[in-house]
Amino acid sequence: MGTRVYAQLWHEDAAKAEQLLQDVMTEMERINQLMSPHISQSELSLINQSAHNAPVKVGMELFSLLQTAQSFSDKTAGAFDVTYASLGYRFDYRKKIKPTEQQRQQATQLIDYRGLKLNPDQSTVQFAQSGMRIDLGGIAKGYAVDNCILLLQKAGVQHAIVTAGGDSRLIGDHRGRPWMLGIRHPRGDQHVISLPLESIAISTSGDYERYFEEDGVRYHHIIDPAKGRSAREVISTTVLADRSIEADALSTSVFVLGVAKGLQLVNSLAGISAIIIDKRGKVHYSDDLSVPAMQKP
Ligand code: AMP
Ligand code: MG
Repeated sequence: MGTRVYAQLWHEDAAKAEQLLQDVMTEMERINQLMSPHISQSELSLINQSAHNAPVKVGMELFSLLQTAQSFSDKTAGAFDVTYASLGYRFDYRKKIKPTEQQRQQATQLIDYRGLKLNPDQSTVQFAQSGMRIDLGGIAKGYAVDNCILLLQKAGVQHAIVTAGGDSRLIGDHRGRPWMLGIRHPRGDQHVISLPLESIAISTSGDYERYFEEDGVRYHHIIDPAKGRSAREVISTTVLADRSIEADALSTSVFVLGVAKGLQLVNSLAGISAIIIDKRGKVHYSDDLSVPAMQKP
């Protein structure tokens, strides 16, 4: 998945604990093999290679994740859009490669989740236009973390954390005290906010994860589908939810939506909280986390 995977758990049987950690890593790698755009034989790559020609049949698992992705596109008025990759694949942040202006404009026209045709009867995927591509980087880590948490819960684990990149989910507490998770300073290594948490999912998206700078512009990995360029209003978004898949998709979405629209969305969703750092470094909280004005010192 091009990211660090981390798990910690308690189990009274050390051998069983070791086995469960191995199971977590195996599950992560299974999903990587299915959904990586960098593995040419992954199901996702097969879609990108052929879905402009004819419908491509995919397994239930990927199909249903694509349906979930589409439902987040509907919820976010297209801020979350897996077809962002029509443009996104032209960037290589490590090598500082970006599309030409002409390529950028052409590719931007191809970004539209409604052009990703899902046929549930046939379990097929087709693109409305050639040149379209998809990438699940905004939701697959959350999905993988949820799967791992589920397998640990089934094994009776009561205290655990599973992390993939910026996505973490917790089972229970840290044995009698909360887990402490930090939100990184978007322009430094230290944590700016520490949160005591238990039994919850948390996801942070930041413009510092994959980026390069050229002529004073930061080109980073979260693309605003409407504008066809990196989203610039905020620099870090953190979303809390029951499930990692929601936290992951929504952290990416809120990053694109910015402070006003992002908070409006989060405040309208039950059980979802957000902490947003805008480009000036100001921190914004969703209504459930913010202190009422009267109580502010
Ligand atoms: P995250 O790691 O959750 O912050 O999500 C960022 C990743 O989501 C990027 O590396 C891309 O793979 C993908 N992505 C970028 N822009 C979008 C978008 N507008 N909608 C859905 N996924 C996106
Ligand atoms: Mg995300």
